[in-house]
Amino acid sequence: MGRRKRRTTLPVRRRRKSAFFRCPVCQHNSIIVELYEKEGKAVIKCFNCGLVREMNLLPGESKVDVYTRFFDSFIEGEG
Ligand SMILES: [Zn+2]
Repeated sequence: MGRRKRRTTLPVRRRRKSAFFRCPVCQHNSIIVELYEKEGKAVIKCFNCGLVREMNLLPGESKVDVYTRFFDSFIEGEG
């Protein structure tokens, strides 16, 4: 029992043409997320309304994860 399966899961990196996320401020799909893994931070920018937000980047997080956290915190902060 308890056989260990060694699975080396490589992160699948898909390149999408449009990597934009929806901006909670201006509602445009104009958010880009830049990851700075060395610094442990991520910068979220909206090139439509000029929103810039710096987030801390947790290990293993992808752009979507950072964006989701940003979005949630933004909505909560507004309410
Ligand atoms: Zn915006």
